[in-house]
Amino acid sequence: MQAPGIRTKRARVPGMSGTVANSGTTADRQPVWLFDLDNTLHDTSHKIFGEINIGMTAAVMDSLGVDEATANILRTKYWKRYGATMIGMVRHHGISADEFLHKSHSFDVRPLIRAERGLAAKLNRLPGRKVLVTNAPLHYARAVLKHLRILRCFDSLWGVEQMRIHGHYRPKPSVALMRHILAHEGIDPRRAILVEDTLDNLRGARCAGMRTVHVFHPGTPFAHGKSGRPDFVDLRVNSVGHLLLQKRPVRGS
Ligand SMILES: [Mg+2]
Repeated sequence: MQAPGIRTKRARVPGMSGTVANSGTTADRQPVWLFDLDNTLHDTSHKIFGEINIGMTAAVMDSLGVDEATANILRTKYWKRYGATMIGMVRHHGISADEFLHKSHSFDVRPLIRAERGLAAKLNRLPGRKVLVTNAPLHYARAVLKHLRILRCFDSLWGVEQMRIHGHYRPKPSVALMRHILAHEGIDPRRAILVEDTLDNLRGARCAGMRTVHVFHPGTPFAHGKSGRPDFVDLRVNSVGHLLLQKRPVRGS
């Protein structure tokens, strides 16, 4: 069986001060926060999505020896069908997942990242364990978290490489993946809250019995024109800081 989410070297429990923090009492009654990465913890609309698109196309061209137009068609097709281009490359072309993910995300993230201020302090003020769940590769996620100085805020990291069930990749919004993560992390679904910008992923989390926070982000693909709050979304916010302003962020937390 594939190893569960990668443990970080996080050494301490998040702070217990602040409006929201006072709502929890003991660790086992606190919520467990599952955070998405791109367009949830940082803003990809600034520059980084452009780099990912360029890197992804170049990686398909290099791996398959095809021209740019063909590579673009293939990566879009696999992303839509499987939720990650890498899965199509592995399944249909026998490409190594690790090799492809390193080729496609080989750029320096540091000059490309834009995020809200004081993110580490804000995350530490939210009581409860934090787990990162991203369809992006782990080395990229780790680089972004390090640059944002929030790697230590997370107890474990789930990148797309860890999202395998019975030998098959099952990225978000798979309900089976959500149940798999909850089981591996030992989390009661009723205590788990997914914080995400992508509505499909929030719907998957709700089907697995979790509560949901929608980070409404203009950089999210197809975000424009979305209005209102779907019934599978418990709370809608514009930032992590916005979560702290809620007395009880979501039911039961
Ligand atoms: Mg996202």
